[in-house]
Amino acid sequence: MTSPYDLTREDLDELLDGEPRYRADQVWRGLWEENRPVAAMTTLPRALRQRLDGALAPALRAVNEVTSDRGATRKWVFELAGGATVETVLMTYDDRVTVCVSSQAGCAMGCTFCATGQAGFTRSLGVGEVLEQVMVAARAAAPRRLSNVVFMGMGEPLANYAVTVEALRRLHEHRGLSARHLTVSTVGVAPAIERLADEGLAVTLALSLHAANDDTRSELVPLNRRYPLARLATALAYWSERTSRRISLEWALIDGVNDTEQSLDELATFATPLRAHVNLIPLNPTPGYLTRGSPPARVAAFREGLEVRGVNATVRRTRGRSIDAACGQLVNVTNARRGRLGARVAVDVRVAARVPGGAPESEPSPPRGTAR
Ligand code: SAH
Ligand code: SF4
Repeated sequence: MTSPYDLTREDLDELLDGEPRYRADQVWRGLWEENRPVAAMTTLPRALRQRLDGALAPALRAVNEVTSDRGATRKWVFELAGGATVETVLMTYDDRVTVCVSSQAGCAMGCTFCATGQAGFTRSLGVGEVLEQVMVAARAAAPRRLSNVVFMGMGEPLANYAVTVEALRRLHEHRGLSARHLTVSTVGVAPAIERLADEGLAVTLALSLHAANDDTRSELVPLNRRYPLARLATALAYWSERTSRRISLEWALIDGVNDTEQSLDELATFATPLRAHVNLIPLNPTPGYLTRGSPPARVAAFREGLEVRGVNATVRRTRGRSIDAACGQLVNVTNARRGRLGARVAVDVRVAARVPGGAPESEPSPPRGTAR
């Protein structure tokens, strides 16, 4: 066990064997509903609290915490057992409170424009490590209630499949979060999308598309060589059929690369049969990818071009860029310091941090007509 949130109810019963039965209920409520660390569960006898304090110690240690957008965006760097670090971002809006969680320390997918991909892969997280990110953020959000969880931090959630599915289930069952307020973002692990469709979880799926022709997509997203667009389309059609949920296609607009008329036509051709919603994200700067994001006028024109072609599209509200908390800017600091990109990351992340203005939140806007 590494986190109190690794425990199932059965594990807790076993841990508290010999105590009166209501104690397990009390601790379970303390963990999930009241969201307190064991040390703050003051209704427990001191001796029990001390015993549990060791057994239920947190897995995450906050080594840095920064805020932007006048406190509405908050980013933590957490150190995990073994020394790897992950980042978690909390975003507060008028109508919802969203946490963006990491599923892996780093990422092995190697997308060229993404800071996480550029810095390499350390390890996958356990279910407790994922859930604890949510619970720490929920604590910080109080008195607002955390309403949405998006798997859009570091890592590819479908490459850590069992943990992702278990975390989704527990958030729904133990924390009472509505499944449609849980979003899994994937770069396109086609068989895992199909498997997830069969899990009976009505979560929201976001597919990071970025290009709708195989040549360009394979350059941006190496996994496209393994699961090219036709294979992806089959998996997405299966998702729609099984879940009746609308898919979001994520598209980071890159100057001259995927913001052309040809890109518009290709994207519309891909999105139309799926009746998908498109989320446009102006590319955020990262150290290892020098092409810039599309200028604002081009972003607006691209969105209009999609509407003209009958495809619903939104430009994501911007959040967190000044603290490197925006999409694709999250990086395993330990890796970045040690790794081959070390020097460049160290310098350029500071440059990126000076970019004025906001950047995308790490969450898709809802498809039109979707209740939140
Ligand atoms: N691995 C998953 C989830 C994490 S990435 C995935 O790729 O979907 C979260 C989102 O940020 C993805 O849509 C990703 O494509 C996007 N992203 C990555 N780098 C970016 C950048 N530099 N600017 C804008 N969005 C970026
Ligand atoms: Fe990994 Fe997603 Fe970044 Fe690609 S975009 S490297 S899949 S985190």
